[in-house]
Amino acid sequence: MKINASRLQSHFEAMSLIGKIGETGTCRPAHTALEKEGFLLASEWMHSAGMTTRIDNFGNLIGTLKGKNPSLPVLMMGSHLDSQPYGGRFDGVAGVLCAIEAITTLTENGIIPERTIEIISFADEEGWRFNKGLFGSRGILGKLEEGELQRADKDGITREVALKEFGCDITKFKESEYAEGSIYCFLELHIEQGPVLDVANLPIGIVTGISGPLWLTVKLKGMAGHAGSVPMPMRRDALLGAAEIIVALNEIATQDPSTPTVGTVGTINVFPASRNIIPEEVSFTVDLRDIDLDRRNRYEKQLMDKIEAITKKHQLTYTISEDTNSEPRYCAEWIKDIYRNQFKALGLEARELMSGPFHDSLALSYACDYGMIFIRSKDGISHNPLEYSSYEDLSLGTEVLYGAVVEILKK
Ligand SMILES: [Zn+2]
Repeated sequence: MKINASRLQSHFEAMSLIGKIGETGTCRPAHTALEKEGFLLASEWMHSAGMTTRIDNFGNLIGTLKGKNPSLPVLMMGSHLDSQPYGGRFDGVAGVLCAIEAITTLTENGIIPERTIEIISFADEEGWRFNKGLFGSRGILGKLEEGELQRADKDGITREVALKEFGCDITKFKESEYAEGSIYCFLELHIEQGPVLDVANLPIGIVTGISGPLWLTVKLKGMAGHAGSVPMPMRRDALLGAAEIIVALNEIATQDPSTPTVGTVGTINVFPASRNIIPEEVSFTVDLRDIDLDRRNRYEKQLMDKIEAITKKHQLTYTISEDTNSEPRYCAEWIKDIYRNQFKALGLEARELMSGPFHDSLALSYACDYGMIFIRSKDGISHNPLEYSSYEDLSLGTEVLYGAVVEILKK
């Protein structure tokens, strides 16, 4: 291997000490002293790779390896160093540390790139602290939404205050934005966070695209009544309707077992929530994802028809609000081709799979071509201290990433 696997492992081990919880967990929230500590450590490694570093006004850490021709659009790589409150050691971290290893290898081999290379640890990818993720990656593209800075965390600290405390100047966001056309492409290596590669017994895979989630909130209204006296045929039970809709969603999402469609009801609220009152109002969320937008739209229509029929049967009224409707975003064919060749050179089967979760790549996909590699996640576990990817698999992924960077620099 061209990359240095033991150095890579030592970087993971050092980073895992920052915000360590239990034996293998991590809690490193966005815009905190812990994340800053992670940034400083990663900066040291970036400096060793010949990069200069800075933290921009969105709270992103950016390492820059200046190219011979700085007017060319940059080759951007990276992911995030913030974690879930009860997270693991690899989610996001892998994309930053493996990129640093790839670029360290590049400079060690005396390669001075034509175009500038940047490695970014994006601020607040995870989104749990302020209930809105991909902050840094949307930020650099001028895609923040109205009122975002006023969102508060559970302690009442707003994003604005957190950013200021982190050292960011929120009046200078514009200076931290990237002009259209200034990013050549974006490469992200990430753990799979699902079981596909583990089940197939493959160390790494090529991502085809990120499936767009459709997020709905469904509210059903029936009629409350005494659970002991209202006869069954006369009831308008909103929870019964919700139960049938949840089962229907499951049937819709599983109708073709050969497809990666997923459908989930993750929260449900019942009113008045009393054991002896027939539920009058129920609201629940729907998360429907697919890499094929036509199919997802077809399934959405099927769900709407089911909701119509089921509420009619139980004499319920309903409202549906759309919270998020993201389209699937596909990886660039030319980058996948480069990855396929790298896999082949290493004698690896190039399994292609979609990403159900979103990543910083999703934001970048609106600004440039992007490509992703997934690293096998043991038992598909993630957002959990049990999250595990082996250093062997991470090294293979880094080797592929390095090879891809060398190829892309020829363009
Ligand atoms: Zn992540």
